[in-house]
Amino acid sequence: MKYFYTLSICLLISLNVTAQHQDGFYATMSLHHAKALVKDAPNDIEILSTFRNEVAVWMTETGSHKLHDRILTHGPGYIYRNSEEEAITAIQNPQNILENNTRAALNFSITEDATVIPTLDLIQTQNIEDHILELENYGTRYHNRASATQAAVDLKAKWEEMAAEYGRTDVSVRLFEHSNTQMPSVILTITGAEIPEEYVIVGGHLDSTSNQGNDNAPGADDDASGIATITEATRALFEVGFVPKRTIEVMAYAAEEIGLVGSNEIASEYASNDVNVVAVSQFDMTLFNGSSNDVSFITDFTSGTLTNYMMSLLDHYNASGDHQVTYSTSVCNYGCSDHASWTGQGYLAAFPFEANFGQHNGNIHSTGDMFSLTNTASHATKFAKLCAEFLIEVAKNNEALSVNDVLASSIYLTINDGMLSYDLTSSQKEVKSIQLYSIKGQEVFATTAISDRDQVALPTLSTGIYIATITTENSNTPIVKKLIVR
Ligand SMILES: [Zn+2]
Repeated sequence: MKYFYTLSICLLISLNVTAQHQDGFYATMSLHHAKALVKDAPNDIEILSTFRNEVAVWMTETGSHKLHDRILTHGPGYIYRNSEEEAITAIQNPQNILENNTRAALNFSITEDATVIPTLDLIQTQNIEDHILELENYGTRYHNRASATQAAVDLKAKWEEMAAEYGRTDVSVRLFEHSNTQMPSVILTITGAEIPEEYVIVGGHLDSTSNQGNDNAPGADDDASGIATITEATRALFEVGFVPKRTIEVMAYAAEEIGLVGSNEIASEYASNDVNVVAVSQFDMTLFNGSSNDVSFITDFTSGTLTNYMMSLLDHYNASGDHQVTYSTSVCNYGCSDHASWTGQGYLAAFPFEANFGQHNGNIHSTGDMFSLTNTASHATKFAKLCAEFLIEVAKNNEALSVNDVLASSIYLTINDGMLSYDLTSSQKEVKSIQLYSIKGQEVFATTAISDRDQVALPTLSTGIYIATITTENSNTPIVKKLIVR
């Protein structure tokens, strides 16, 4: 009798819990936000487990909207989890991953000046602007709207066209279908020429949201800007003829705004298949210039090692001149974008953000998140440069297969006694212009419309390494060669 009594109580409790949990979902979020929501909407959230400053919760759809409105910051404020168990396990990973606990050890170095420097000149602000407007024009990219799925299908076609335009047979584009949203993610893959089993990933989210109703959610800054930024960086890599040693993947995630759903499913699948991802960078909001510095690296839910490396890239390539980019750091206080999905699986992830957190675009998640607010993508251009540097330096140039190196070996170009001597007659190329850059990316010499072999006087140059780029009549891709002045 007693036994039965206990059993029926248990059954009642568990039935009760099941019924209560039917109309909601599991998630993880900061303790601070969860407590605030419990106060506001006690029927819409239940805290299931707490670990340090993180909690596993069950909450309703209504609760998620209240949270969205209340925190008034970027991202959904919570991370969607498939089950109670998954939510509770997830919070037991420390916020900032331990670097020695990660899946891949990467030897970070900066060696690819000869490819990076000409690439920086190829990045076009106009392309980023056009792409942002293209995405804004869907009206809404809220994950459960038909236009969001259409945006993914169209982006796949756009990326395929871009690869075809540059004759890239090493590139493929696929849709990644999800369990928890009808919207697919889009993934462009450049297969590594030498170590294809090692991956370098950049991403942004394709979906949008609005607190004023999701039928009008232009999402220009959040996050059409990120998608346009990574697209233009990739296009510039194609234009310069970059062939990576490691595999590069460019990802447009679905359903970030409802709890990092798309990136979470992708990162989980990669982790369970033991995919060796060496580094990930997120580009979510690059349009709005809200701080005195250009880039603000988010330091929570990210890898310190990778963040420091990205800062070194800016120190090396963007310290001064036309491509100058300044930076600082700030914190989100929660997993505010898709980088958190990768960090949660033990991968190294970084998140360069448009401004110091709190000084970012105040119009996001509203009908006012439109390109017309800034009317220029010059700020985003800086992120596209960082993205290109990151991809080239982490994936590294494949010397054996690089288009440039093949061309460069067929030309003669030297500096001797203050004279630049060149001979392109054997390369079948007609010279349009030659530029000479210092290792810092500063143009020190330029000449246009000349014959295919000549000797020209240079200004006085200090000793060191210089990068020559030669533009020819029949190609947009400059030939690049490293030169040493002794
Ligand atoms: Zn976003």
